[in-house]
Amino acid sequence: MPSAVLVKLDPTPRQERSLTAHAGAARFAYNCLLAHVKADMDAHNKPEWSMYALRKWWNTNKQSLAVNRDTGLPWWQEYSKETYSYAAQCLANGLHNWSQSRQGKRLGRRVSFPQFKHKNKTRIAFAYTTGSFGVVADNPHAVRLPKIGVIHCFENVSKRVAGAHVLRMSVNKQGDGWYASLTLDKQTMGKPVAHATGSVGVDLGIKQFATLSDGTVIPNPHPYRTAKRKIGRLQRQLSRQQSGSHRYQRNRQRLNSMYARTQHIRLDLQHKLSTYLVRTYQSIGIEDLNVQGMVKNRRLAQAIQDVAFYQFRMLLAYKSLAANANLVIANRFYPSSKTCSQCGSVKTKLSLTERTYRCEQCGLQLDRDMNAAINLQRLAESASESINAHGETRRPALG
Ligand SMILES: [Zn+2]
Repeated sequence: MPSAVLVKLDPTPRQERSLTAHAGAARFAYNCLLAHVKADMDAHNKPEWSMYALRKWWNTNKQSLAVNRDTGLPWWQEYSKETYSYAAQCLANGLHNWSQSRQGKRLGRRVSFPQFKHKNKTRIAFAYTTGSFGVVADNPHAVRLPKIGVIHCFENVSKRVAGAHVLRMSVNKQGDGWYASLTLDKQTMGKPVAHATGSVGVDLGIKQFATLSDGTVIPNPHPYRTAKRKIGRLQRQLSRQQSGSHRYQRNRQRLNSMYARTQHIRLDLQHKLSTYLVRTYQSIGIEDLNVQGMVKNRRLAQAIQDVAFYQFRMLLAYKSLAANANLVIANRFYPSSKTCSQCGSVKTKLSLTERTYRCEQCGLQLDRDMNAAINLQRLAESASESINAHGETRRPALG
């Protein structure tokens, strides 16, 4: 299973224009391919929509499609061929998912037919899978992008990749700038370090982001709540400004970087906590999440929290694998909050407002979240004992 490294890029203005143009070329190819598939379907022909068929079609037709409207000269050769392969892959995936979903072979929400990518409404991205992309031998703070050049990064990429083979590098623009995500080949990555001992239970919540059975309480940073006033003011300003104007662009940029900042604060906390957990404990017990239940039409705060929990568990899952720690995910119906951590009796009812767990059987009085965390720790302990008894290690599923 591959692991990924995400780095922020520091392109020069010229490189930035080139990045945007590459993403634009990918979008153009995607739209051409989609139009071709649609035309085939309208003519009642069964279109070939594998990535290879789409790429072949693009290569046959690019000379007449990717042409400058004013000069009549073709421009496709100005960009890496990888960007067109990326477009073909995106469309092939989209069509495959749609087709599977339509036939009922795909779980989750229904996938709609791929749509044309609008210039201002789609993710600005492209990727490399073949060629000489990735880390640069004599410059640890840079990545190489064919046809664009060597771009400086804000961190030591070579150190993070640690000699592993890079399978794929995707590049995308986020609210506050450009990022590259390098997918590493697990086979070529270094061996995991000797892991820590003991076990811990982690209870995730709204007020406290996490309560650990070792007594650590990590408050929720609520970055959005802090930035809410500024964000609201910018949104109001934006709504009064002429879309596309200079001031509009500037304010939109400000708003985007503010959103990006709130996300970074959350992600930073999740990275630190997950790293701490896998470095300190051998077994980590955590609740299951109702991912299917994370549907729209709910309170914003709840929605943000759901995403944060999901992200956190993804991080914890891949870091546990890398560090050889056991991640024990409680069964969805395991009553971690309702069980007494001292005598094991289970309450039938526990309202969300009861912040203290009071046991009628043994008289235990304990913070609700701490009680749940201790139960999750017990679960992690017993699960790892049974693993040792069977002489095998259980791998947690991602997601
Ligand atoms: Zn009790």
